[in-house]
Amino acid sequence: MTRDALIACDFSGGVLDGTDRGEAFIREALILKDMRRDYKLFKKEAIKRLNELAKPQHTEAKRVICKKCGRPQYVEFMGKNDRFKCPNCGTWVYNH
Ligand SMILES: [Zn+2]
Repeated sequence: MTRDALIACDFSGGVLDGTDRGEAFIREALILKDMRRDYKLFKKEAIKRLNELAKPQHTEAKRVICKKCGRPQYVEFMGKNDRFKCPNCGTWVYNH
């Protein structure tokens, strides 16, 4: 009985020859295979959810009026002191 045969659940080629616990080996190998599959899915899902959590917070579009030209803009501010450049006149407009 080789480790590779157990991992692959390949019991052909006489790998079970010479053991009187063939059925127990097969049962155990199949359970372990399922466990590996479930663990892989679990890990994948856990990483996906961690990435979701680590994403930056959703920001809402905010209507801001440029102080220089008076043109309203809809911008998504990330933080309190962020700024954007007015596409109409090029003035920096701050989030405060
Ligand atoms: Zn402007």
